[in-house]
Amino acid sequence: AKASGRNNYQFFAERMNVAAARRFELETSLRGALEREEFTLFYQPIVATRDGKVEGMEVLLRWRRPDHGLVAPDDFIPMLEENGLIVPVGEWVIRAACEQAVAWRRAGLAPVPLAVNLSARQFMHRGLVPAIRRTLEDTGIEAAMLEFEITETALMQHGRQTLETLEQISAMGIRLSIDDFGTGYSSLAYLKRFPVHKIKIDRAFVRDLETSGEDRAIVAAIMALAGSLQLSVVAEGVETGAQLALLREHGCDLAQGYLFARPADAAEMPPLLRTYPSR
Ligand code: C2E
Ligand code: CA
Ligand code: CA
Ligand code: CA
Repeated sequence: AKASGRNNYQFFAERMNVAAARRFELETSLRGALEREEFTLFYQPIVATRDGKVEGMEVLLRWRRPDHGLVAPDDFIPMLEENGLIVPVGEWVIRAACEQAVAWRRAGLAPVPLAVNLSARQFMHRGLVPAIRRTLEDTGIEAAMLEFEITETALMQHGRQTLETLEQISAMGIRLSIDDFGTGYSSLAYLKRFPVHKIKIDRAFVRDLETSGEDRAIVAAIMALAGSLQLSVVAEGVETGAQLALLREHGCDLAQGYLFARPADAAEMPPLLRTYPSR
């Protein structure tokens, strides 16, 4: 028993060392990633449920990590948030998205609003609003062509500072969406308190829409709430025609998901913009 106990400990210690070494390696390569221009943006269309027209695009960060391929944000954004690098990386995302919008416009494509994700940590940084303002000035992109997505959990984290920042952003003419709506554990009071324009129904409520009466009831309740507060609604993670039909029945006007398009490199967007010109 003693011997096996020691073996277990050794096994555990080795595993810990491997995990710690991996973490260290990740953090080290992440620190230089911005300078080495390893970050890139993917785009995913947000379409009208009525006719499939592209009404906007969500901007999704990717990391081309040498020897690791394309890394998804869930595998590195938590670390960027921990070490504060989300601030410069987040500013880069906003700027790169606006520059892409300029490039599409120069190529003769109809502009659609780009929705950029913001972390809670970015709100604590006083430089956020000036950085946004500078980016709009430098690129010449109208505020109406930029949107921000924030989770309800992030909203609740730093009440006053967040409210101030969001009011400044809203006053600039940039619209705000509540991301992953319904998954946070906050009251709905923030919908009144913050300048919110749109809510995004989390894909957890969309996935089993066909089989789950509960999920249909939740979507109906969200639609009723949004209707009375005059918020528009995007359904996330729409993968099947049946989900789309149910969402349409519930009066949901906008959707995003693999049914329409997977997130992809900017180079893949022009045909989508041409096939479904916006307005
Ligand atoms: P999110 O904001 O909820 O983004 C939607 C996620 O759902 C994306 O994952 C997208 O690829 C995925 N998705 C879209 N359609 C479908 C579908 O039909 N089925 C399924 N199963 N998934 C779908 P992704 O790109 O891996 O991003 C994960 C999260 O990382 C995002 O979740 C967002 O919270 C965060 N994120 C991405 N880019 C940024 C960024 O620039 N800044 C910050 N702060 N966070 C970001
Ligand atoms: Ca989002
Ligand atoms: Ca979401
Ligand atoms: Ca999410």
